[in-house]
Formats: sequence, C-alpha cells, structure tokens
Amino acid sequence: MSELYRQLPKVDRVVEDPRLADLPRGAVLDAAREVLEALRQAISGGLSALPEVVPLIRARTESRLAPRLRRVINATGVVLHTNLGRAPLPPAAVAQLMEVASGYSNAELDLETGKRGGRLDGVREPLRALIGCEDAIAVNNNAAAVFLALSTLCRAGETVVSRGELVEIGGSFRVPDIMASAGTVLREVGSTNRTRVGDYAAAIGSETRALMRVHPSNFRIIGFTERPETAELAELAHRFELPLIEDLGSGALVEGLGDEPVVSQILAAGADLVLFSGDKLLGGPQAGILAGRRELVQRCRRNPLYRALRLDKLVLAALEGTLRAYLSGDRAAIPAVRMLTSGSPAEPLAGQLRGCGLRVSIEDDVGFSGGGALPGQGLPTRVVALRGKPPQVLAARLRAHDPPVVARVARDALLLDPRTLLPGELELVVAAVRAAASAD
Ligand SMILES: *Cc1c(COP(=O)(O)O)cnc(C)c1O
Repeated sequence: MSELYRQLPKVDRVVEDPRLADLPRGAVLDAAREVLEALRQAISGGLSALPEVVPLIRARTESRLAPRLRRVINATGVVLHTNLGRAPLPPAAVAQLMEVASGYSNAELDLETGKRGGRLDGVREPLRALIGCEDAIAVNNNAAAVFLALSTLCRAGETVVSRGELVEIGGSFRVPDIMASAGTVLREVGSTNRTRVGDYAAAIGSETRALMRVHPSNFRIIGFTERPETAELAELAHRFELPLIEDLGSGALVEGLGDEPVVSQILAAGADLVLFSGDKLLGGPQAGILAGRRELVQRCRRNPLYRALRLDKLVLAALEGTLRAYLSGDRAAIPAVRMLTSGSPAEPLAGQLRGCGLRVSIEDDVGFSGGGALPGQGLPTRVVALRGKPPQVLAARLRAHDPPVVARVARDALLLDPRTLLPGELELVVAAVRAAASAD
C-alpha cells in the first residue's frame, strides 16, 4: 500500500506532462490536485494498482472547462419541459437572435427619427395584430408580469381573487405570496370549487383596486364546480370602475389547443389586462407579456420596477422572431406548436432500433404538454418501449451520452416519445440507444 503512495506523481511534476500542454495551466493544476487526492483516498480504501494518472487529469480538466448548459435531446414527449428549458425556438427567432447577438442593433434607436425609442415596438405591433390588444409590453417572465401588474395597479389596496385560484405554479410562485410581496391585500372570495359573481360583488369596497382571475394552468377542479365567465366578471368590474386582470400563464394564442382560453377571446370578453408566458403560451423564449388597455399597460411601463424586470435585447430579438412566425400564419414553423398539434409516429424510431439487443415495442401512452400548460389534456401518443436491461440503467447511460438523451421510465421500460424530437435527432437517439444497449 505504501508502495502505491510512493508511485503517485508529484503535482508540479505531473502538470508538466506534454500531454497536458494544450490545456490552461490553472485548470490543469486544480484537476491534478483533485485526481491525486481521489487516488490517495482510493489507496487507503484498498486500491490494488494505480491507473495512469495523466489521462484522468486531462478528462477532469476538460469536464471542468466544458459549459454546464448544453443541448440535450428531449425524448420524453413533454413539449414544454421546465427542466429541459421549455420551448425550442422557431428558426426565425434563432435567426433574429443570432443577428442581434453578434453585432450592434437598434435596440433603443428609432431609425426614422434618429432619436431614442422603439424598444418594444417589435413586440407590441405583432401582438396587436394577433390578439387585438391596445398595447403590450414584455418582461422577464410571467411571474415578473404578475408582480409588475399587481405592484403597479393594486399596491396599498385590495385585490379580489377566488379561493379556487390561489394556485402554486412550481415552488416559488404562489398567488398569495406574490400578492404579499407586491404590497396588495388578497381578498379571497367564494370557495375552492364554487365562486359566483355575487361573491366578488360582495367583496368590493373602497379599498378594492382590481378583480383578478388566475388560470388554473397546472390542475383542474372537476365535479361540483362554478366559476364566472370573463364577460360576467368584466361587467361587474367595470360597473365599479375597476380593472379585471387575468393571469393566463399558458392559455393559447391560437384556437385548437384543447380547452385552453384563447387570449384574444379573453380580451374581447372584457378583460382589461392579460398576463402570459412567452415560452408556455407562445413556444418562444422565456418572457412575460402584459397586454390590454393602453392606460394600464403604460402605467406598468412607467413603474420604476419595469426597468428591473425588462427584457434583455437577446430575448427581445427571439420574442420578436417568434411573434413574426405567428404572423406568417405558418404554425408548423413553431416547434412547440407543431409538437402539440401533430406529434410524430413511433414506427420509424422503432424500426431503426430493432436488432439493438433490447426488446422493442410500440405502446399507447399519454403525453403531457408540461410547463403548467394544458393540464387536463393528456395528449394521446405512441411511444417506443425498450425492455431487456434495467430501465434506470439505460436512462442513466442515455443521459451520459453526447449529446445527452432524456427519456421516461415507466411500466418497467424505458419509453422514448418521438413527439419532442427535432429534425435530425432521430438518428442521434438511435446511436445513443445502440451504445447504451451494448455497453456491458
Ligand atoms: C406558469 C405560470 C406563471 C409563471 O410563469 P413563468 O413564465 O414561469 O414565470 C404564472 N401564472 C400562471 C397561471 C402560470 O401558469
């Protein structure tokens, strides 16, 4: 054992090895210390022979220098998977992003007048055309949009919300908490499953600043339920000269995505300000959109908080590109919409996997759009199921592949759903599965 300790090279000697010469010195030094320390521990744990040290140091240095955030292949079938970065951007959005990212841009320059301005024009104009709003602004995400709207319109007063809509959208976004941090007093009305217009009416008083509806994005209340329509609530709000704010979160920009509310219809029904996600609802970059009556939108825009929550030029470029893809009318140009509305057949993937050493079958399954969008809407889908090796082992090997492939484990099988594969990814999945199947 002491013999192995003596065989361990010295740090300052081993980092001079020519096989490490092309790597940055500091990173090599750190990696060498870690590798040697790990080997010392392995020796005291009973290691019988020393491996070659330089390749270990090289591998550790390279992995330290590699970016953490990288492309992965989504074979889960969950279209807006929060852990996988939600929406893949439309090609038009990527093109605009690249152009703006790699040079200067007219971010805040009006090219006609030569004066400052115009930052949000490329978002406002398409949204006016698409959803019929008077005005719109965009901020960092929908949580920020809700926070900005409440801070601007409801601070130091009361906001009336149904008890059935005090939702949590993932750990840190809870309607009651966000109200508290925006400085507005939550006036809960009705009950979990049934709230009527009269409940809102009874709560309106001199302190009331707005009525608010929150879309139950990630759950459904079913059975003995009642919830007023937007039009009924808008009528009540306007009778008291109050705004009706709707946090849609996801919803739908175009008709045909399950029973999701369509933004233009919510506005037409009388909502004064709607808030929604750029990725969940549009299949674009992470962003939060506030759209509706000009006076309300502009009050939010003038709040000093807006400056802290506003979009970076890169996201702005991607958002404009996404909105232009909608304007072009070509829904297939938006990957998330294409995946949600069509999906892709399982046969080609299954066919290419036969003979890989695993049992391959095609099974019916239910996919989900994910990201808090379309909760009740299980998407009927067909998946490729792989059996013959422990599915957790296969899943781990696929994640370790380059590029990593993320799949689902269920029914004692590894499930691959081609719905969320992008063009050109099928072949990469086949290669990853073949490698995983033959790895031992
Ligand atoms: C998702 C969601 C949010 C938060 O949106 P982010 O874009 O994730 O910040 C807020 N409200 C509702 C109803 C949602 O569904």
